[in-house]
Amino acid sequence: MQYNEVMVRYGELSTKGKNKKIFINRLSQNVKAALRDFPQVKVHGERDRMHLELHDADSEEVLKRLKSIFGIQNYSPVMKLDRDMEQVKQVAVEMVKEQYAPGKTFKIATRRADHDFELDTNDINQLLGGEVLRNVEGIKVQVKKPDITLRVEVRLNGIFLSCETIQGAGGLPVGSSGKGMLMMSGGIDSPVAGYLAMKRGVEVEAVHFHSPPYTSPRALQKAKDLTAKIAAFSGSVQFIEVPFTEIQEEIKKKVPEGYLMTVTRRFMMRITDRIREQRKGLAIFNGESLGQVASQTMHSMIAINDVTNTPVLRPVVSMDKNEIIDIAQKIDTFDLSIQPFEDCCTIFAPPAPKTKPDLEKTREFEARLDVEGLIERAMEGLVFSEISVGDTLAAQQEETFSALL
Ligand code: ATP
Ligand code: MG
Repeated sequence: MQYNEVMVRYGELSTKGKNKKIFINRLSQNVKAALRDFPQVKVHGERDRMHLELHDADSEEVLKRLKSIFGIQNYSPVMKLDRDMEQVKQVAVEMVKEQYAPGKTFKIATRRADHDFELDTNDINQLLGGEVLRNVEGIKVQVKKPDITLRVEVRLNGIFLSCETIQGAGGLPVGSSGKGMLMMSGGIDSPVAGYLAMKRGVEVEAVHFHSPPYTSPRALQKAKDLTAKIAAFSGSVQFIEVPFTEIQEEIKKKVPEGYLMTVTRRFMMRITDRIREQRKGLAIFNGESLGQVASQTMHSMIAINDVTNTPVLRPVVSMDKNEIIDIAQKIDTFDLSIQPFEDCCTIFAPPAPKTKPDLEKTREFEARLDVEGLIERAMEGLVFSEISVGDTLAAQQEETFSALL
């Protein structure tokens, strides 16, 4: 069925007091961005709900896009009709039919904003209820907890019918909490961490370290593909590549094996923090889960966090691997994440990194390096690209392939 409006409910947003206006504006922007190829859709962000006028935009596609926008509690496709009861009857039957399966019950719930309308709520409930009973074979009325509720709203500018409530993504509108830098590897955890940050309203920029020729172009592409996946929740994500080869070679040369990993992570943290400063971000996000590997013990966190006062937020810190994998599957990053391409950290990783690195020793070993010079050179080599939903390698290959045909 082709609907002509959608009603969006905010949920958590409605409790945000003074900030409410900012949240609603941000959500309107995000909805418009997600629907940018439907310029005819008009978005009205009101205090308690949002209305979309579709103006012939494909309602099924619009409903699908709204599903991944954070800040939406739930939403309903709506038919706005003229105040002509013959037409209302016909559409009411059509809408209920679409939701009906044998055994299901229904009721009509009418509200009048215009009390001067010729029929009152009871009249309308009975008129439409009778029409549905006559035209949908087998359907029964049930007033308490029916399977299908057809909501009818009589307003001055028309009669509005809706019959379905679709669960939204919840959370807060992306961008409403400010910007954060996501340390994006090619693994399972960091895309999930990024998704969870976005869910709480963070505009994420992805920072990825790579070490050619030790890491391949495919490994870099994998990180970009994962970024394109999480871009589904915001439209697009800034992707920042950091050349990390020189730093890793230097560390390998000058730092004892047990401290390679700790010192490497300190460099990653420092560089991510520099980028954050440049890009006016507020925090750093990563995919660390407590106790998962040697670099993710609390002792390691002390030694690694030592290089910055910036909040380092770890959305998956207390999750088990299985719980992280469940989310990765839900957001469709899992299959990409398990593709076997080398990461810069694994290539130089010693067989047994310290799980309890000593902070003083870490600082001492690191002082053997020209920390500032190494960081400056890495910063000079940053590569920026804006990655949108659908910018995956598979999509590019498909394009090349169709160009060849
Ligand atoms: P896995 O699912 O294999 O654990 P991961 O992404 O968690 O993958 P780890 O080696 O556990 O990788 O690293 C912990 C965190 O450090 C990552 O979640 C990520 O935030 C950051 N990180 C690791 N490697 C990189 C990299 N090459 N570029 C950017 N961030 C990285
Ligand atoms: Mg991990």
